[in-house]
Amino acid sequence: AAMVAMSASGVSWFWGEWMKAVGATERVFELLSLQPQIPEGPSEAELPQFRGEIAFENVEFSYPARPENKALRRFNLSVAAGEKIALVGSSGAGKSTIASLILGFYTPDSGKLRFDGVDADTLSLHAIRRNIAIVEQEPSLFSGSILENIQYALSDRLATEEEVIQAAKHANAHEFICKLPCGYDTQLGDRGVQLSGGQKQRIAIARAILRDANILILDEATSALDAHNEHLVQQGLEHLMKGRTTIMITHRFSTISRAQRIVVMDKGEISQIGSHDSLIRNSNGIYSGLMQKQLSYEASLEPVPA
Ligand code: ADP
Ligand code: MG
Repeated sequence: AAMVAMSASGVSWFWGEWMKAVGATERVFELLSLQPQIPEGPSEAELPQFRGEIAFENVEFSYPARPENKALRRFNLSVAAGEKIALVGSSGAGKSTIASLILGFYTPDSGKLRFDGVDADTLSLHAIRRNIAIVEQEPSLFSGSILENIQYALSDRLATEEEVIQAAKHANAHEFICKLPCGYDTQLGDRGVQLSGGQKQRIAIARAILRDANILILDEATSALDAHNEHLVQQGLEHLMKGRTTIMITHRFSTISRAQRIVVMDKGEISQIGSHDSLIRNSNGIYSGLMQKQLSYEASLEPVPA
């Protein structure tokens, strides 16, 4: 009730202080674009809402710490609004670098990145990140209740309890949360309950559903899970991905098969691009090799329970 009486900037201030109080790390802020204080900034509702087109035009990029190593070279890729793209390739190929550029952690050395045709250089980080949700392999949870951990997904206000429960249901998280000792009030962190990898990921999916952004990045979101958890997470992801531009970085065949186009990266360049069926036909291509390795690895895992 006290929050209602505050001005917009007061809410932002309160928000930052509250986040610090519950022990959120800088990394958490960074990932969700929650600046600890958003001074007099526009609210999310005032920021532009992207349709979700992303275009890389001749992008070249080296990390500042390793200027001699080109992480991306001549990278060209246009992703349509709502399109599902899988990025595959061996470790070091440049997949996570693509995600970092989209999120604005770095800018291209040359070439352009555009959202809905607009040069990313002309957009604020706040405006860009408001339009993006991310689910990572190791989601950052903070010490606090499960409710709080999902609630802070929006950067300009706290989600209501009903919104949180609705998102958790779609994320396949509601059921396990209800079985915990204190349900949504269960405390996480050092002195609280430890969640499994699959449970953490379903919390991250609930946050992403709440954010309702048109661009979604999944970075190895299912690679660390056993078959049962992977199945539960996949169902949550399926709901989340609906209608959103999705960039999925993954080795899992079940995730790759959800993509309309697969971009095979090698040493910072696109080596192959197309549907699974078209790529697998080239038996000497990188993709065929990656798939053979991955499918024999997946066959060695426990089967999905009926
Ligand atoms: P992938 O996600 O496909 O495994 P990355 O995008 O992480 O690959 O890495 C692409 C290249 O950039 C690699 O050569 C890697 O060593 C390098 N790289 C990645 N992150 C950094 C960093 N923070 N500083 C310097 N070099 C980096
Ligand atoms: Mg990576």
